[in-house]
Amino acid sequence: QAPLLPALEELASGVRAGRRAMLARAITLVESRKPEHRKIAEQLLQELLPFTGSGVRVGITGVPGVGKSTTIDALGTQLIAQGHRVAVLAVDPSSTRTGGSILGDKTRMARLSLDERAFIRPSPSAGTLGGVAARTRETMLLCEAAGYDVVLVETVGVGQSETAVADMTDTFLVLMLPGAGDELQGIKKGIIEIADIVAINKADGANATRARAAAADYRAALHVLGTREPHWSTPVLTYSGLTGEGIEELWQQVLLHIARAQGAGAFATKRSAQQVKWMWTLFDDRLRERIRSDATLRADIPAIESAVAEGTLAPTLGASKIAGLLSL
Ligand code: GDP
Repeated sequence: QAPLLPALEELASGVRAGRRAMLARAITLVESRKPEHRKIAEQLLQELLPFTGSGVRVGITGVPGVGKSTTIDALGTQLIAQGHRVAVLAVDPSSTRTGGSILGDKTRMARLSLDERAFIRPSPSAGTLGGVAARTRETMLLCEAAGYDVVLVETVGVGQSETAVADMTDTFLVLMLPGAGDELQGIKKGIIEIADIVAINKADGANATRARAAAADYRAALHVLGTREPHWSTPVLTYSGLTGEGIEELWQQVLLHIARAQGAGAFATKRSAQQVKWMWTLFDDRLRERIRSDATLRADIPAIESAVAEGTLAPTLGASKIAGLLSL
């Protein structure tokens, strides 16, 4: 029984018309791992490609509890009031293990989730981090084609998922807590190094002073690190997702970051490089899939693996053997 998918043209025009139901079906299609779905998804993405790219793409990270959903709810609501349409996506690497996602859960964004001008989609829940990131990236393109001019991509503050999100967005926003006593932890973890903007949340009530102190610490640390790009030095802001104070300034910094990058010619260069890197990520994923699904390979690989594990086969020779099996 063939799945009842709308025809490609119908999907493409439905997405372009901004019809939510069509957008949702298109996203389900790009998230599907069935080969016959992949083929249609590829055609759909190629068809919609000319209508993508006009969105402001912002990555948002921070440890659980830092206030990502509160911030996205406040920022998104404000952007909508200014006439924007906002898509909220998520890259949750843990969802590949647990099958569930804490990110992108609609109940976490109470105001935004009720608004017709917002589109919230949880993290795809199957596959490798590379696979999850690729699906999210494709979903981002579908959202742009559907007329969402701001795309917010959230991820948790652990592991490699931040790099994956930084690789698909224009501006990468790192949220921090005031006075957690570990202000420099983020620097050790390298997160600060990929931040375009550092924002300390919960700068309200009794926390306001500690937030300002934390901001000074981060500024000093960033000064030591030096600038990554000649046209931009990472600002450190304080704000409150709860009261909304400082949210507008935060958004102005996002726009300034993009404007400076455009002025320096770095914006287009970065997006092109991201496209190429993405292609290779997809290719890597496909290669792994091929290895997993090929019966001959599956039969031969365990012996190679154990020989490497026992130290009787050099890893470099093992790699050559596997490459040989793939006729590479
Ligand atoms: P997430 O896990 O990063 O998405 O964090 P949440 O947005 O769920 O926030 C975690 C907790 O911090 C919740 O209880 C929020 O109400 C609270 N919170 C978030 N932003 C602020 C803020 O700006 N000020 C204060 N005082 N609390 C906040």
